[in-house]
Amino acid sequence: YGDASQKIDYVFKVVLIGDSAVGKSQILARFARNEFSLDSKATIGVEFQTRTLVIDHKSVKAQIWDTAGQERYRAVTSAYYRGAVGAMLVYDITKRQTFDHIPRWLEELRSHADKNIVIILIGNKSDLEDQRAVPTEDVNEFAQKEGLFFLETSALQATNVESAFMTLLTEIFNIVN
Ligand code: GDP
Ligand code: MG
Repeated sequence: YGDASQKIDYVFKVVLIGDSAVGKSQILARFARNEFSLDSKATIGVEFQTRTLVIDHKSVKAQIWDTAGQERYRAVTSAYYRGAVGAMLVYDITKRQTFDHIPRWLEELRSHADKNIVIILIGNKSDLEDQRAVPTEDVNEFAQKEGLFFLETSALQATNVESAFMTLLTEIFNIVN
């Protein structure tokens, strides 16, 4: 987890978006600090966390931005998206509505973010399989049609969180190299 003395070759800004309570802050806590909290408070104020990792012998600092509890449609400002090269678009597999809002979030991205931004769609809370409301196959089809990467994660169980960030960051790395 990051060595402060390391020389940084790249800094990639990544934004987390999606409806409230889908687990964005916990995905970030898992990735940046390997922590998880079941009673996480709504995020206050714009904040980001960083983690430095190595991709293809280069050190890449991921600067991950989390929304300030402004997850309503159009409430996230363009400053949030400015300079972002990657986006993690998160829904909750147990809440159908959070997936139904994904096209709106894509619209937001397409109007505010760089047109070449790399997007990964994340179905979080995969540990709650017995409460699943969004079938994986439907999302596979949607993601393919929209040209998005797609993974299901559990911030709680630390399933696929690392893979999700690695997929996104590696794709960004390959584009800039
Ligand atoms: P945000 O509003 O999108 O940032 O959502 P939070 O990260 O604050 O999470 C909302 C709630 O869902 C909190 O109670 C979390 O503990 C819980 N949560 C987040 N990720 C998971 C997960 O992978 N599995 C389960 N079971 N709960 C999760
Ligand atoms: Mg949050």
